[in-house]
Amino acid sequence: MMRIDILTLFPEMCESVLKESIVGRARERGLVEINCRNIRDYTRDKHGRVDDTPYGGGLGMIMQVEPIYDCYASLCEDIGKKPYLIYLSPQGKVLTQQRVKELSRLDNLALLCGHYEGVDERVIEEIVDEEISIGDYVLTGGELPALVLTDSIARLLPGVLAADEAFELESHYSGLLEYPQYTRPYEWKCMQVPEILLSGHHANIECWRRERALERTFQRRPDLLENAKLNSKDKAFLDKLKQENKRGG
Ligand code: SAM
Repeated sequence: MMRIDILTLFPEMCESVLKESIVGRARERGLVEINCRNIRDYTRDKHGRVDDTPYGGGLGMIMQVEPIYDCYASLCEDIGKKPYLIYLSPQGKVLTQQRVKELSRLDNLALLCGHYEGVDERVIEEIVDEEISIGDYVLTGGELPALVLTDSIARLLPGVLAADEAFELESHYSGLLEYPQYTRPYEWKCMQVPEILLSGHHANIECWRRERALERTFQRRPDLLENAKLNSKDKAFLDKLKQENKRGG
């Protein structure tokens, strides 16, 4: 079973999310182990401080190296080995579904959440294996990014999603955005569900969905098409879209 340990100053914030819904159920069913470790428990400061002002001056506070290192060392001792440690950071490589898929194959993962102005650089040099960002914007702490990463990994683990919630067809997994989806009622505000979805003709429905996925990706994220797995039928359909686009524009 995969084990994820989140090293954070706000374990309750993480727990409040991790106990809910699909991930919460997966934990209860023993499909994934997720623990939160409070970095503050490892400070040697009698006032419980874990941060200090930056050398050289400047605004804000920096998380100190010792509590983080001691927290990590106690984790290594508990699990008897070094987990793969990811520091959630706006300076890291932006997370992709491909990276999520690769990380979901590891046995042990530890996620370090920064706060304030970030962590002392020596933490990164000494113990961090990889820095991951969840996007080109800055948050107040690494907890939300760690939860994003945990959620995206957990749902790929065997048994976590029911068979009818399979992730293989979803946006990004196949390199394309997903086709549009509908459920009851059939008509809402004069908008009807596309007739083909009611036809019961599975091959035609598959074809329609594939074309809508290609169309969406072409319109919204054409950059994804460069790495998507496309067959000759897909390519012919995309050529048609490009021609129509040229004529329209
Ligand atoms: N001073 C840092 C910098 O400019 O790179 C930013 C620190 S940020 C205010 C505080 C913490 O939030 C970081 O240590 C990191 O753990 C987390 N964080 C903020 N934005 C993030 C993002 N886009 N992806 C991942 N983690 C992020």
